[in-house]
Amino acid sequence: MNLIIMGAPGSGKGTQAALICKTHDIPHISTGDLLRKNIADGTDLGKQAKAYMDAGKLVPDELVIALLKNRIEQADCAKGFLLDGFPRTKAQADALGGITTIDVALNLVTDLNKLADRMASRRVCLKCGYTTSAQDAPDGICKACGDKLVIRDDDKREVVENRLKVYEQNTAPLVDYYNNKGLLKNIDGMQSIEQVNQAIEAALK
Ligand SMILES: [Zn+2]
Repeated sequence: MNLIIMGAPGSGKGTQAALICKTHDIPHISTGDLLRKNIADGTDLGKQAKAYMDAGKLVPDELVIALLKNRIEQADCAKGFLLDGFPRTKAQADALGGITTIDVALNLVTDLNKLADRMASRRVCLKCGYTTSAQDAPDGICKACGDKLVIRDDDKREVVENRLKVYEQNTAPLVDYYNNKGLLKNIDGMQSIEQVNQAIEAALK
């Protein structure tokens, strides 16, 4: 079972990915983690990737594909894997198709406006790290330590909206790509964690 999962920032994709991997006993492969691990381990590919990153350049697709190919040939991928954060472009999807077969592309469909509301309502305590929402802390005071709650720059409405817009623009072609191949499974991502998980399992049957 070779899977891809797509979902906007704040969609709960990470939570769902962890549940899928636990249920099906397959590894969660994030290309970001894979890059960091290869760089930390000082592999040949890791060294090449680091040279691009140190120069402020993007790591070329061929290099990421080579890293992925190595990764999915490992024993723990015998039953399959869940790819997260890759592919991001049609060219990458084509290249991925050249090294493996994808069985299902899961797409967590979310209401971007509601997602933006949720993300922009996040409040954090800079003193102790406590995280809550504006609704749950209307007085703006940290329940854990009594300090003032703040909105992180990353959670500001304009920043959140921009991030979601970029995500949608980048992902739309991929959704089409996997839909045209008959591999796309749209999952309503606005339900509870448990309901989303159930919908995913039903789609994987
Ligand atoms: Zn606090």
